[in-house]
Amino acid sequence: MERWAEFSAATKLDGIGVSEIIRIGAQARALVAKGHDVIMLNAGEPDFPTPDNIKLAGINAILTNQTRYTALDGTLALKAAIRRKFLRENGLDFADDEISVGAGAKQVLFNILMATLNPGDEVIVPLPCWTSYLDMIKLAGGVPVCVSCPEDAGFRLSADALRAAITERTRWLLLNSPSNPTGAIYSSAHLHALGAVLRDACRVGVIADDIYEHVRYSDVPFATMAAVCPDLRPRVVIVNGVSKAYSMTGWRIGYVAAPAQMIAAMAVVQSQCSSNPCSISQAAAIEALDGPQDSVRAHCRDFQQRRDMIVDLLNSIPDIRCTLPDGAFYAFADVRTLLARPSVIGQGITDDMALCQFFLNECHVAVVPGSCFGAPGYMRLSYASSESMIALSLARMKAGVERLLAQ
Ligand code: PMP
Repeated sequence: MERWAEFSAATKLDGIGVSEIIRIGAQARALVAKGHDVIMLNAGEPDFPTPDNIKLAGINAILTNQTRYTALDGTLALKAAIRRKFLRENGLDFADDEISVGAGAKQVLFNILMATLNPGDEVIVPLPCWTSYLDMIKLAGGVPVCVSCPEDAGFRLSADALRAAITERTRWLLLNSPSNPTGAIYSSAHLHALGAVLRDACRVGVIADDIYEHVRYSDVPFATMAAVCPDLRPRVVIVNGVSKAYSMTGWRIGYVAAPAQMIAAMAVVQSQCSSNPCSISQAAAIEALDGPQDSVRAHCRDFQQRRDMIVDLLNSIPDIRCTLPDGAFYAFADVRTLLARPSVIGQGITDDMALCQFFLNECHVAVVPGSCFGAPGYMRLSYASSESMIALSLARMKAGVERLLAQ
């Protein structure tokens, strides 16, 4: 009998891997399993528990047997709560057939790309960006067109850079504000400038990943392209979810607002992939969106304190520099000066990957190299961690850097 051929993954997975952030997390957990007390500043999730009113809504959903298949892309009750959210917070009115719900913002992003990209279609992605964007675009048959946005431009895409990146094949501009990993926010003025370029490029749509909408540290109102440039609204898709705002990362609920035809195409993708998102989580998400919002504000105040603290501590480490991020819960620190020091290079640490490996192995602090986000020479530290853990981890990193520089 012929033997089963050795496994090799499908070619569509060529060059696509489990995200580097997940790999670093696994390495950190392996050290913990060996008894080391590793501090994890690598995670992209709030450390607060889900608020009790939301948990109770989930429990109630179980007790009232809301445990069956639901409508494919979200219950009408959840869609109504999402519509109310868009009207209340963004001044945008959507119909039920312009809303779709999936298992996290990640799934809805994937649905959008699968439902809209033809082979070779280009998606403009400002760098630094969330690691998953590029692989998702490739899996969906598209081509990411990365545009580096330097720190002195606020890590934001300029109108000129956008204009230069648009080709005949451009299908989408993918904007993430506040940004993971930089915390950069696009104000309405920035969006107006980008919108002016898009007006002349009528094939190009915008995917606005607004998942960090509620994690912002100024009183400036939140700006999203569909609200700032209403004439572009027919080609703008808004992605959001409950993960970050309500500490609900494990519940897996994300949603999207888009033109009805696109929502219908996304439903085809989801129907053949996973069907409805968890019925219990959907019920809990209604409470998150409709219920009291005080925990959102309280968490944001806590994040702000931690942000100020971590940025100060980072700047107290020799040769590391970090500016104050405006949103999200990540500090994005520049380590290029450190990496240029002969004593650091002499110890085999020649890039941000090696430096983060040093912080993990020698200081037992897990942070993510900037290269994972398309920004070599930087590193990302999540401050979704207690103040005492932030103080301890940064003290360890400072001692580690001093050791490196002393050699
Ligand atoms: N977009 C960005 C920028 C993110 O950082 C994340 C989570 N890390 C997501 C989308 C996905 O969020 P979720 O699937 O948990 O809703």
